[in-house]
Amino acid sequence: MTKEFICIVCPRGCHVLVDDAGNISGNQCKRGETYVKNEMTNPKRVVTTTVRTVFEEIPRASVKTLEAIPKGLIYQAMDLINQVVITKEMKIGEVVIENILNTGVNVVLTKEIKRKEVK
Ligand code: SF4
Repeated sequence: MTKEFICIVCPRGCHVLVDDAGNISGNQCKRGETYVKNEMTNPKRVVTTTVRTVFEEIPRASVKTLEAIPKGLIYQAMDLINQVVITKEMKIGEVVIENILNTGVNVVLTKEIKRKEVK
């Protein structure tokens, strides 16, 4: 049976087909072929979410995995990320969790945590 994937590598969103013999069609570039091969063997996703902070004015801050991690690890990764509480000011790109679940991928801050000046 032919399988259909929607390539998410770029906004074109090609519908890529893989037939029983493994022939790939519908992709408008080579990256779509690579994407589908990865989806069939080891699908990965970038995780974007938020973590808690101790600051009332910024109760949550956005984070993401710097690269995609295996889809099968996303729930475990979310459990770890949900345990994080930021207790100091941090800049965008600073590491919140290093090498999450031994994937070699860091979770980094995507929103600066800077408290308002108290006058
Ligand atoms: S196959 Fe190529 S052109 Fe089509 S969505 Fe994927 S990356 Fe974009």
